[in-house]
Amino acid sequence: MTEQTAGSTTRTSRLSEQLRQQTRPVELTVDHLRVYYATRSGYVRAVDDVSFEVRPGAYLGIVGESGCGKTTLVKGIFRLLPEDAFVDGDVRLDGRNVLAMKSNELRQARWTRMSLITQSAMNSLDPVYRVGDQIVEAIRAHWDVSYDDAWQRAAEMFDLVGLAPDRLRNYPHQFSGGMRQRAIIALALVLQPGLIIADEPTTALDVITQDQILARIRRIHEAASASMILVTHDISVIAETCNDTAVMYAGKIVEYGPTIGVLQEPCHPYTMGLKNAFPNIKGGIDKLIAIPGSPPSLIDPPQGCLFAERCPFASDRCRDLKPSLRHVGTDHSAACHYTDQVASLRERAKKKSTWDEVAVRIGLA
Ligand code: SF4
Repeated sequence: MTEQTAGSTTRTSRLSEQLRQQTRPVELTVDHLRVYYATRSGYVRAVDDVSFEVRPGAYLGIVGESGCGKTTLVKGIFRLLPEDAFVDGDVRLDGRNVLAMKSNELRQARWTRMSLITQSAMNSLDPVYRVGDQIVEAIRAHWDVSYDDAWQRAAEMFDLVGLAPDRLRNYPHQFSGGMRQRAIIALALVLQPGLIIADEPTTALDVITQDQILARIRRIHEAASASMILVTHDISVIAETCNDTAVMYAGKIVEYGPTIGVLQEPCHPYTMGLKNAFPNIKGGIDKLIAIPGSPPSLIDPPQGCLFAERCPFASDRCRDLKPSLRHVGTDHSAACHYTDQVASLRERAKKKSTWDEVAVRIGLA
């Protein structure tokens, strides 16, 4: 058995070309998805009635603070949740409900129709096998191709993510963190999926490597004509990358729409606060401003708006009544009672004193 042979290049290039032609971007529809975890103190509503769609070829960003339910949402889409999780709703991949798929169909759908790039690359590669062999194994588990052709396909993927194909012969411990993450991206892309989900793909990396990998992912999205979801806590990453944005807070989507609309004219006070907290999109604000406080308990959530405690504009109405997502523009929606006063809220939300008052109100200053 050889790793690469002269002559396999033509065959494998043809294989890659065939795959490229066969691949079509996937449409994903998530409808009223709920994921609850049972604990001794009650149910944790990690994802609570979330609905959105990813149009074929679109690039959706999902943003929110740590613990807001982003990763649980992704695991729900992939059916990677613990068995005791309570899951309800619909996740449709080109019309087929992922939550109802039998294990064979699900195995086929994962990696060939949708693939996942996780934040913990170290754990995704087996330390006792060469990286190239792990990628070859993934290819041959789904396609009836020779070892040589599979190796050549893996080499092409390494090239695509900026790794020298010779590195396929290395073991995971011989890679730096950034190289491991690139190898995981290559693994996730090797079966030419129609939907790629990247969950905090650069969190553990230094800033320069982060930029390089995000640029690669952008180029891959364009080249592969795939649909994409990028999950991140960093709203400035979304600004540079995604067509559409969903803002999550405490297990719910609180704002959703075209990225330009959501970031330039946010309609939910939480999005306004997130914007203040990141340097690249702060626009007109001299200093970064954090949102005081922390998200509410997901076991015993407040009766009204989940953001009320931290919101500078909260009223009794907000504390009593949960706002639902409502249209605020073309394809743009927000879950706030005061979207009719949004221009004034935006101006007030740019001021540090507005958020300082919240800190005082909740006893943090
Ligand atoms: S409903 Fe009220 S508390 Fe909730 S975000 Fe809107 S203004 Fe703030």
